[in-house]
Amino acid sequence: MTRSVGNIGTDRERILRRLHARIRACTKCVDAGYLERARPVVAGSIRDRIAIVGQAPGAVELTTGEPFSGRSGAELRRWLAEAGIDEDHLPYRTAITKCFPGKSPAGGGDRRPSPVEIALCTPWLDQELALLRPRVILLLGGLAIDRFWGKVSLDDAVGRSRVKQGVTLIPLPHPSGASRWLNDPAHRELLRKGLAHVRRAARALDREASAPTMRVPRQKSAALPFTVALPKFADGRR
Ligand code: SF4
Repeated sequence: MTRSVGNIGTDRERILRRLHARIRACTKCVDAGYLERARPVVAGSIRDRIAIVGQAPGAVELTTGEPFSGRSGAELRRWLAEAGIDEDHLPYRTAITKCFPGKSPAGGGDRRPSPVEIALCTPWLDQELALLRPRVILLLGGLAIDRFWGKVSLDDAVGRSRVKQGVTLIPLPHPSGASRWLNDPAHRELLRKGLAHVRRAARALDREASAPTMRVPRQKSAALPFTVALPKFADGRR
């Protein structure tokens, strides 16, 4: 039986919802002794063609359960608005690790997730991106840049964009006020260039779409710049 494109989209949305439910039930870092409490946070729709990958949720997100709902989220929304993406069209929002890691013992913001926590959470991110197949990924902060762009300084990454296997990667600093990187006017200029890349990429997606929105179904799938396995469920379906 031939299935319509609409049905395929609905199936993928259903699978994404199930994946989100599995992520929200995850306690791997608690079981491994890295977190006292797990509250995984992720949001978005299968129709999103832009994905944001941050570092980890903050204390406010722990309360709201919504990614980027705290002060850094407000700053991110300001940046997205500058790039022409409004509140009604927020991209898919996820992170390298999906639970609040706690405050840094040294002060100055949240604790950076450890390599083990990152490794424990990586399969979730891989499965999300394999399902979503975003056309554009915004890399927010050092951990996301390390993972998708390579180990470079913010100075060498922000302000640039790169197409890797059909996916446009755009590095940005993390919008957390804890970072002093943006205090330098030269760095703010790099951010401005980065947001100009976001604007161009979003406009290009809109030109492909049948309506001026960034949440319509994709015309075609893009390959991912890394290899991932689609999520499998207990009943064997994907
Ligand atoms: S950070 Fe990721 S792997 Fe760790 S408990 Fe939260 S969802 Fe699970």
